[in-house]
Amino acid sequence: MAELAGAPDGALNIGSVCADRHVRLGRGAATAISWLGRRQERRDITYGELAEQSGRIARVLAGQGLEPGETVAVLLGRIPELYGAALGIWKAGGVYCPLFAAFGPGPIKARLELGKAAILITSDELYARKVASSRAALPHLRQVLLVGEDGAIAVLPQGCADLRALVAAAQPMEAVPTTPDAPAFLHFTSGTTGTPKGVLHPHRAVLAHLVTGRKVFGLTEADVFWCTADPGWVTSTSYGIIAPLVCGAALVADEAELEPRRWYGILHDEKVTAWYTTPTAIRTMMRYGAALARSYRENSLRVAASVGEPLNAEAVMWGQKALGVPFLDTWWQTETGAITIANGPGTDRRPGSMGRPLPGVEAVIMRCEAGTPKQVDGIDVVGELAIRTCWPSMFSGALGEETRYGDCFRDGWYFTGDLVKRDKDGFIWFVGRADDMIKCGGLQIGPFEVEGSLMDHPAVAEIGVVGKPDMLVREVPVAFVSLNPGFEAGDALRAELISYARQELGAGMAPREIHFVEELPKTNSGKIMRRVLKAKAMGEPDGGDILSTLPPCPGRYDDE
Ligand code: ATP
Ligand code: MG
Repeated sequence: MAELAGAPDGALNIGSVCADRHVRLGRGAATAISWLGRRQERRDITYGELAEQSGRIARVLAGQGLEPGETVAVLLGRIPELYGAALGIWKAGGVYCPLFAAFGPGPIKARLELGKAAILITSDELYARKVASSRAALPHLRQVLLVGEDGAIAVLPQGCADLRALVAAAQPMEAVPTTPDAPAFLHFTSGTTGTPKGVLHPHRAVLAHLVTGRKVFGLTEADVFWCTADPGWVTSTSYGIIAPLVCGAALVADEAELEPRRWYGILHDEKVTAWYTTPTAIRTMMRYGAALARSYRENSLRVAASVGEPLNAEAVMWGQKALGVPFLDTWWQTETGAITIANGPGTDRRPGSMGRPLPGVEAVIMRCEAGTPKQVDGIDVVGELAIRTCWPSMFSGALGEETRYGDCFRDGWYFTGDLVKRDKDGFIWFVGRADDMIKCGGLQIGPFEVEGSLMDHPAVAEIGVVGKPDMLVREVPVAFVSLNPGFEAGDALRAELISYARQELGAGMAPREIHFVEELPKTNSGKIMRRVLKAKAMGEPDGGDILSTLPPCPGRYDDE
């Protein structure tokens, strides 16, 4: 906390500690952001420039009548204004609510409505394609501030203002003194298991970003940090913006879509020292082969890490060999706001596991006995992961769903909805989401265990396993598989994979059916959507929304 001092009595403002604090400490000339444009442009932004730019945006927002606690939605790609806007919103006391640019008009409208966004910051092009048609049906949305995709905006649409013009004319504003509990950001969960939830976090969450930035990634002012997450995902807010800036590192912001050759080039050319990405990214790199990785082996990297989905041991080992640095899996959720369980720091790692709770995080495994959750201590006993609620970035609300929010907590514990087990050394292993468990006869099958085992087969590039309803045993495991280059889908490979799984896992856990697919359905944050696969397994072609999320309920993992 002392490290973040400098604000007026008791106040804590993320925008101020991420930019102005560094200027006060004499680091105004240090690089805060290295922005790489889609068309090979680049711009380096110093902490001094970021402090000024965000102060101007804060002034513009205040001038538009933004009241502290009001939501400002941001629908932008990774362009310089994204970072100025996030920090400017915090400085003005607003709630930063980023949206995926890949969303269509419907999901954008739904989130603007649910978040009661008072102001939207977006580009002229995204506005025309995705928002203009629903504007009249959004009474809360008082103002739209546009950034021209190609510089100046030729004709301003009605009811919109030009953000760059307003910013150029504004005087920087000091951050309003927000309290640590004041709401700071609002994210909608990935929607992996059903309807996305609006999750709110307070300004004090920045303490967790500081601690995890330092402890997990070892970030100092000498580091160059690159987080590949899309701005609409919480990972981008927490680690694509806040953590590197609060630690005083330089962050890399790449506007382009991710592509392995470009990624290796950025790691090399930008002298990235710490890299945060996803299992999908690393599996894509595996598909491109080790030779490509080797051609960029000369780099400054010291650590790489992944989040969002289970990272199988094979991918960890491949990543370590290809990049020549430790590759860490980290576990957290939109709700926990920052990493809570991680492999590392240092040598404290076990490939294939999520790692151990970070210092300051109390994590236990709970099982339900006669309707009451009880802590289990046994080795390899599966139960629901629960976390003590004092973690500073723990969510402070779920929009419009007070009951659902309250249902996640019991006796000072937050129930995560994820099933895990602990090994004899205290490493935690992901088993599956409570909602995804496959109940097959007397067996509870964790999809990840089946997936992890089949991933070791050379033909399998990606795999999703779900339960298909069965009259006799309730559910049977069914696998959807995409193949590595050089393997051909067909009955012979299907039989080989089933027999491989039977040998590795036993007949009870092995998939009964294997479906070959080009690509697995993913959320915008890149996660495999098992509910869509499940719908497919049940004969629904597009998966639709036939399965909605079960409301969170402590101790869902029951000994039925
Ligand atoms: P929704 O809650 O809407 O279904 P979601 O849970 O995918 O979506 P996020 O908050 O983005 O939304 O993701 C958090 C979840 O991602 C975790 O609860 C866990 O299931 C999964 N996850 C994150 N990191 C890991 C990891 N390292 N290993 C295994 N699973 C992980
Ligand atoms: Mg979730």
